[in-house]
Amino acid sequence: MKSENKGRPSAVWPPFTPLKTGTAPLRVKSGKGVMLTLEDGRHLMDCISSWWVNLHGHTHPEIAQAIHRQALELEQVIFAGLTHEPAERLAHRLVDLLPEGLTRVFYSDNGSTAVEVALKMASQYWKNRGASGRTRFISFEGAYHGDTLGAMSVSHRSVFTDAFRDLLFDVDFIPYPETFEDDADVAEKEARSLAALERLLASHAGAYAALIIEPLVQGAGGMRMCRPAFLKALQKKSRDYDILIIYDEVMVGFGRTGDYFACRRAKTVPDIICLSKGITGGFMPLAATVCTDRIHHAFYDEDPGKTLYHGHSYTANPLGCAAANVSLDLLIENHHQFEQMAQWHRDGIDMLRQEKRLQRFRVCGTIAAMDVAAGDGGYLSALGPLLRQRFMDNGFLLRPLGNVIYILPPYCIRREELLSVYECIRDVISKIPLD
Ligand code: PMP
Repeated sequence: MKSENKGRPSAVWPPFTPLKTGTAPLRVKSGKGVMLTLEDGRHLMDCISSWWVNLHGHTHPEIAQAIHRQALELEQVIFAGLTHEPAERLAHRLVDLLPEGLTRVFYSDNGSTAVEVALKMASQYWKNRGASGRTRFISFEGAYHGDTLGAMSVSHRSVFTDAFRDLLFDVDFIPYPETFEDDADVAEKEARSLAALERLLASHAGAYAALIIEPLVQGAGGMRMCRPAFLKALQKKSRDYDILIIYDEVMVGFGRTGDYFACRRAKTVPDIICLSKGITGGFMPLAATVCTDRIHHAFYDEDPGKTLYHGHSYTANPLGCAAANVSLDLLIENHHQFEQMAQWHRDGIDMLRQEKRLQRFRVCGTIAAMDVAAGDGGYLSALGPLLRQRFMDNGFLLRPLGNVIYILPPYCIRREELLSVYECIRDVISKIPLD
């Protein structure tokens, strides 16, 4: 057995990383609160909550202790035919926190699987009810719903999906009415999007199982934000034509938009909601797809063919559920933090207004974003890696999505810490050579 790693090249294939041109990953030793400590002793402020999962800061002792206690009691057990207290309790608590009507919780273990479950649930719902032709989905330009084949199918076709194009099923995409500060055209964009939806539904309503949306903020597509009023209008149209709505709240759930869930903030109720990322406070992989009684009822039948045949080895892992239960306590106890952060973001943005290359400022709850004017926009903009490196050199973990800089920190960040992120952005941008 080899025990010594020193000097050996890494055997790890990193995610989302061009193998030849990507920079070698930095080795992280530990984390505390918003800070990460690298093996070489340097510190980085985690301004993106480690891919949008961390809520209360790294190594939060109460969550760490809950996992420890749970590991000594029951670490994992098959979830078909058996259940356990942490999962049962968490399901009730999620139902209590979600808008009324979302009552049935199906567990899995990551955001992509939460979406896969939602897609399967929606299409089988119609099949179980004898409407077998309803197999198509409507999604949004710029959408990102995960990396498994179904989740990729309902995602915008992009560099992420190019290599798998032939494996994906067909989906109808409509425009996402992205908006930002002082946007004069937002109403027009919303109308265009709703008109596109109307055209699809008016001609083929009987073909659609559901519409899927990242409500209020599209994440990987560039932190594109829409207004709550748009979600209301969308809900009305979908109800008029009796198609289901799936909210992918994998990124925006658990406080990110300033309320516990985007559906609550927009005062809308989807038929199915996908949750993951922040669900455990960023400690353990876990996901939940929550649906209404109406959907659940279509699977409640003597016919075994009407069963939702889906499940993962680690479904409802007790350690994940124990972490999630404590994370929810902390979330409720500290909800003022995520409400407050929107104002701090606005204060930070005020520090950047002189910088002419920064445009389209936008804030939704704990998430802030802006575009850097660039000759080449989009995810592959050369600016992305350059900015990331400069931010890192200054001690900040920020991962621009191409020419979009966004800040999505854990809720424990203090005002001065958050403003220091904006100072760093101002410094870095002022030194970047103009095209
Ligand atoms: N949906 C959304 C909105 C996401 O942002 C992501 C991940 N970035 C996913 C789904 C997929 O989640 P995971 O990476 O946990 O599979």
